[in-house]
Amino acid sequence: MKIRVIVAGASGRMGREVVKMLTKTEDLELVGATSRTHAGKDVGEVIGIGPLGVSFVSSTLEAISKTRADVLVDFTTPEVVKENMELAMEAGVRPVVGTSGLSESDIKSLREMSEQTGVGAIIAPNFAIGAVLMMVFAQKAAKYLPHVEIVESHHDRKLDAPSGTAVKTAEMIQRSRVELKQGHPEEKELLEGARGAYVGGFRIHSVRLPGLVAHQEVMFGGDGQLLTVRHDSFDRESFMPGVKLAIEKVMTLDKLVYGLENILEL
Ligand code: NAP
Repeated sequence: MKIRVIVAGASGRMGREVVKMLTKTEDLELVGATSRTHAGKDVGEVIGIGPLGVSFVSSTLEAISKTRADVLVDFTTPEVVKENMELAMEAGVRPVVGTSGLSESDIKSLREMSEQTGVGAIIAPNFAIGAVLMMVFAQKAAKYLPHVEIVESHHDRKLDAPSGTAVKTAEMIQRSRVELKQGHPEEKELLEGARGAYVGGFRIHSVRLPGLVAHQEVMFGGDGQLLTVRHDSFDRESFMPGVKLAIEKVMTLDKLVYGLENILEL
């Protein structure tokens, strides 16, 4: 039996890659796709891979009600992702979510809903397996080298800053070190924002430039030494093995899992 998948945001940069991955994967099947701009058109024709026999619909609700889907993959925008997840879980469709911008309280309420309905869900700030390893290594390093700063760099169409990956890395680092104030105790910003965003005693810096995809380095400073843990996604294909794994894994879950590291055997 194939796993039946709806892609919300299927005309977007990430959504297109997910559709291509689904068409190349034996046990997965695209049964629905959303795009307000391309509603009514064949998904494959819009994304340039030839007709697929599945047309875009303009809302997630419509996609859910027209298909007997098992999984909703969401790569949309911070404004709609929470509602999409709620609609899916209410209908017994398991969400696999890459869209960034969900707050801690959003995740808490979605976790509660997943537990109440028994519908599994996966939210991953980063589906690139290399990036997940980068976060895990950074968490380990922070135990011994607690002075840290994160520099994340993305393409200039990205809506949110800092990135979901940087926030997640910061949360993981905080778990393995005691909060300490870094830099000079009397340091002053001569230009507002010069020292980046403050998270748990350290800083995140966000770079936005055309030509970039998704990149992050976590720098650990110690006396006379610097350790840099770095990951680069040069192409959106880098996220697809993680998305595929999450679609397969979510079928076995009855609660919400946040972070791909929690479904990998590390
Ligand atoms: P994108 O190219 O702008 O695509 C967004 C898609 O969402 C489009 O298909 C758009 O189609 C749809 N959309 C936009 N506004 C909407 C609304 N109000 N209601 C319903 N649909 C809407 O963005 P992207 O680069 O693919 O990124 C999508 C999300 O994934 C972002 O949050 C990004 O940060 C995140 N991301 C996550 C990972 C990860 O590994 N977790 C990796 C890369 C990106 P229409 O306008 O036609 O409806």
